Amino acid sequence: MTAPTGTGASPWRGVIEEYRDWLPVSAETPVVTLGEGGTPLVESGWLSAKTRCSVWLKVEANNPTGSFKDRGMTVAVSSALEQGATAVVCASTGNTAASMAAYSSRAGLRPLVLVPHGKIAPGKVAQAIMYGARLIAVRGGFDSCLEVARALAKDYPVSLVNSVNPMRLEGQKTAAFEIVDALHDCPDVHVVPVGNAGNISAYWKGFREYAEAGRVSTPPALWGFQAEGAAPLVSGQVVRDPETLATAIRVGNPASWLLAEAARDESGGVIEAVSDRQILQAQQDLAVRDGVFVEPASAAGVAGLLARWAAGKVRPGLTITVTVTGHGLKDIDTALDFRGAVTEVVVDADVDQAAAAADLVSA
Ligand SMILES: *Cc1c(COP(=O)(O)O)cnc(C)c1O
Repeated sequence: MTAPTGTGASPWRGVIEEYRDWLPVSAETPVVTLGEGGTPLVESGWLSAKTRCSVWLKVEANNPTGSFKDRGMTVAVSSALEQGATAVVCASTGNTAASMAAYSSRAGLRPLVLVPHGKIAPGKVAQAIMYGARLIAVRGGFDSCLEVARALAKDYPVSLVNSVNPMRLEGQKTAAFEIVDALHDCPDVHVVPVGNAGNISAYWKGFREYAEAGRVSTPPALWGFQAEGAAPLVSGQVVRDPETLATAIRVGNPASWLLAEAARDESGGVIEAVSDRQILQAQQDLAVRDGVFVEPASAAGVAGLLARWAAGKVRPGLTITVTVTGHGLKDIDTALDFRGAVTEVVVDADVDQAAAAADLVSA
């Protein structure tokens, strides 16, 4: 079952045109869009039955480059273009690189991306290369990449489009608008994976702005989930060598640390950690039970929701929305490794052999 999303405009025009009044753009801003946003809100029958809540997945894989990063990138790149930039830079665990490369190439800007050497999923490398990015692999983690990106933007004529750029959060907040527009109300709880912590901050901004405008009464509690090996917001300490198979949230020193804490505290929410095993199990369950194949980091929210449910911390009857952040095809190796050997049965082009291979018995 799919709920209608957005303002009902058809066809969907991208987040800047759909939510122009809520964004820092003017009539002069050159809009760089690939039609991002307007993503499906899909009910999860399995999670709803299990938790006895109404659980909805905000499927951000349906954005043009396969992750929610496109929502922020349309605003950040449009703004960089308006300000006369000719080159843009970002640090990335992969999805920002893919998104930034697509939007900046489209805008005629030169995309420069810094990624942790050997630590990003092959599908994301392929995207960044195909969209024409200059890909620079840095010996170090995401946090080192971000330091270098910030310094480059300071000393050289390139514009920084990481989520420390406020335009990114402005664009990303539109996902919260879409959820409210689809449900005609706020959920009781919104669940989101947390890495560099821009997205949880953006959701809080979006829900709060709708509440302040009187569109909804009470914004939801935000439940954020980090990977156990990369959970600085849970421990309260920078993690020097963050480690997790969920590469998109492999961040030890989140740029939006304070904003994320504010989102957690002001919303009456939590930020907790889940293990890689819980993440990969949730990823597999989402694919098998809901038909929604996400990348590992994207399943952290579902893993966290299930962990809290198992601990008796999810009251029945709630409306819960969960952002699944990016597409499973970006990192098939991690998914298939966890799934285990699936033996392929090879047969001749023969009905009986195919039937036998499928364990079919003739009627
Ligand atoms: C970027 C990203 C995250 C983490 O979002 P933050 O804003 O860095 O907290 C999670 N999942 C996916 C798929 C991402 O691309």
